[in-house]
Amino acid sequence: MTRVFNFSPGPATLPEPVLRQAADEMLDWHGTGMSVMEMSHRGKEFISIHAEAEALLRELLDIPPGYKVLFMQGGAIGENAIVPLNLVGATGKADYVVTGDWSKKSAKEAATYGKVNIAATGEAGKFTAIPKQSDWKLDPGAAYVHICSNETIGGVQYHWTPDTGKVPLVADMSSDILSRPIDVSKYGLIYGGAQKNMGPSGVTVVIVRDDLLGHALPVCPSAFNYKLQAENDSMYNTPPTYAIYILGLVCKYVKERGGMAAMAEHNVAKAKVLYDFLDSSSYFRNSVAKEDRSLMNVPFHLKDPSKDETFLQGAQARGMIQLKGHRSVGGMRASIYNAMPIEGVQALVHFMKEFEKEHG
Ligand SMILES: *Cc1c(COP(=O)(O)O)cnc(C)c1O
Repeated sequence: MTRVFNFSPGPATLPEPVLRQAADEMLDWHGTGMSVMEMSHRGKEFISIHAEAEALLRELLDIPPGYKVLFMQGGAIGENAIVPLNLVGATGKADYVVTGDWSKKSAKEAATYGKVNIAATGEAGKFTAIPKQSDWKLDPGAAYVHICSNETIGGVQYHWTPDTGKVPLVADMSSDILSRPIDVSKYGLIYGGAQKNMGPSGVTVVIVRDDLLGHALPVCPSAFNYKLQAENDSMYNTPPTYAIYILGLVCKYVKERGGMAAMAEHNVAKAKVLYDFLDSSSYFRNSVAKEDRSLMNVPFHLKDPSKDETFLQGAQARGMIQLKGHRSVGGMRASIYNAMPIEGVQALVHFMKEFEKEHG
């Protein structure tokens, strides 16, 4: 068996020990004679798996009391509607800070349910920097302020937490949750699909402050009503059971590796290998403002785009896959989530150096 270095933006590489444990437990989970996939979500076995996954997530992110953790379906794109359906009703309007394709999509979707104010946008600079908070035009009457903490496509990431005063801060953390410590108490709500850094696709994590429950618009579907889900331990409808199980295994693995501080250290070290090379290269470049560079998704361009395909094929031949950049940005993108070992990034940089020598 050969495993590749998988630089996919998502669904993305998972820790090998997690996959091995899942394989070992596939047919018979803990002597029950059943796969986790075959369990009733209301049985004591799955309830224990669910409770452990939640407890581990709470421990890793140091989630304070007064916040609910929900495991939902619908993904982050679903949340683009589910967030306003549940929160915008408080005042009818919301602020959105647009820093790339994902937050732009969020703002567009929310406009169906309330009045959306674009408090700031980095679009004029082609989304290569996060607008400074001093330039944001926040509305004190907004029901919430929405940001995307890490723009998976453009490769810009907040390295500071906005201060929105009494207005709850809502963050799409799909692509950087569990990659570094966060202060949950600074947020009203955090959401993210699992398939970048927490597990497989199918489960969406929502961390929501208690006082934000109960403001859903009448049109909000029951399955997407945070209050109803909170009252039912995320089991108002059948939750994505297998994805929750894997998420729990990933959390256990992250905890064993030292938790958020250790992950942050590992991710900083990995990203540095790549950015240091990009900064020294005259053939490859990354256009993001240094202070806003993502530690998770690193887009880069070749000086000669006609060599893109040659680069991708060369990488593939060396066991490195999914490096093609998003069509809206072009070039390449290396997604280097928690489960990407530093050896993968070193192998990539080694290849880039060779490529530059040959084609530069
Ligand atoms: C991947 C991603 C999404 C979309 O997630 P889906 O699971 O496809 O709904 C949204 N926001 C961010 C930041 C992402 O990285």
